[in-house]
Amino acid sequence: LGRRINGAISDITKSDVVDENAINLMLKEICNALLEADVNFRLVAKLRERIKTQISSQENITGGNKKRLIQKTVFDELVALVDCQTEAYKPKKHQTNVIMFVGLQGAGKTTTCTKLATYYQRRGYKTGMVCADTFRAGAFDQLKQNATKAKIPFFGSYTETDPVKVAKSGVDKFRKEKFEIIIVDTSGRHRQEQDLFDEMVQIGNAVNPNQTIMVLDGAIGQAAEAQSKAFKEAADFGSIILTKMDGHAKGGGAISAVAATNTPIVFIGTGEHITDFETFSPKSFISKLLGIGDIQGLMEHVKSLNLDQKDTIKNFQEGKFTLRDFQTQMGNMMKMGPLSKIASMIPGMSNLMSGVSEEDASYKLKRMVFIMDSMTKKELDSNGDIFVDEPARIVRVARGSGTSVTDVELVLLQSKTMSKLAKGSKNMMDMQKQGG
Ligand code: GDP
Ligand code: MG
Repeated sequence: LGRRINGAISDITKSDVVDENAINLMLKEICNALLEADVNFRLVAKLRERIKTQISSQENITGGNKKRLIQKTVFDELVALVDCQTEAYKPKKHQTNVIMFVGLQGAGKTTTCTKLATYYQRRGYKTGMVCADTFRAGAFDQLKQNATKAKIPFFGSYTETDPVKVAKSGVDKFRKEKFEIIIVDTSGRHRQEQDLFDEMVQIGNAVNPNQTIMVLDGAIGQAAEAQSKAFKEAADFGSIILTKMDGHAKGGGAISAVAATNTPIVFIGTGEHITDFETFSPKSFISKLLGIGDIQGLMEHVKSLNLDQKDTIKNFQEGKFTLRDFQTQMGNMMKMGPLSKIASMIPGMSNLMSGVSEEDASYKLKRMVFIMDSMTKKELDSNGDIFVDEPARIVRVARGSGTSVTDVELVLLQSKTMSKLAKGSKNMMDMQKQGG
């Protein structure tokens, strides 16, 4: 979807004449791409009209500026499609926030419960999970397993068959113990749809959630609209988490769900693993969709990881960059998660990384880390010249890290490049200070 839309935009920005014909062609291609991605046709028609009106209302703009105007208009309108301009509930510290999950069986509720719990636990909230799915056999075991793995306190019952009672007991217990986040997982299936909705309402009345979140399978396409509408009427959820955005999800259903319920998406699930979970922001989503990078998202991601950067930044500002700095940086990169995901946030990188498999990239990275782990303190705190003076060190490090001399030399070269960059930036800053 992103590639096609991007293609349509770049076609028009490359063409010599930007007349009405060219604009119509671009719009047609964009709309077709959206329709094929299961975005509701009424939304697509509206988007088309809005882009057209905006572009034609600024007829005095021509040439390069016109191309920029078109790019910006398309981008803004796509963002508007997934942005319902409503703020979702934000849990508050030092008080109990009950979050209830609703959604169809298989949507990813139980998996997402653990992801969200982990997200809050890492940010310092005292977090617990309650299993109120007494319908499906093994539901409690699944939650228990996930919670244990993630080291999150949980509550559930093997004997109680009334989900309302279990939910209430669990929430009461955690409330008494001053938990700050209590996530209630519910069942997604019943013999009758009405039973499911009744159960949701009863659990809601019993635990009185501060926020109800609908978990929606990102890959269900057109069905998303009707499904989210039905849940909205029954459970009046305040936000949406989209799951399975890693697979073949075309995302169009999600866009339609937002529009149908006027409810914001807060997170997306991008895999089965606990860390396959990202905050959702309309601008970032569309940026990534179009492959134009998402520096803002990357900065937030890095900030949320509490990486240790202080010494490196200080060194860098003083024009220094040692192998130890390089080691820290590589360590940080490993913490950031799958490389391909990070790369997709860096402008220009998303295309560059597309040929390299995740395994290849992280294999290379890991080897570099092993190499630096095999260095002595003295070597790490140097700028690498020590290896030029005593080449035997290179051989020792290669052997110690189970890599080759070429591999070690590559690390040294890379570090040297960074070191030059550091020097360059120091010169720049000195010049600025001198008013140069
Ligand atoms: P529930 O019935 O709504 O509780 O759904 P589950 O949490 O049991 O998930 C159903 C299936 O979807 C499981 O196999 C999960 O591993 C899988 N799943 C959940 N979220 C994601 C996701 O973001 N990406 C992928 N690929 N699979 C997911
Ligand atoms: Mg479940």
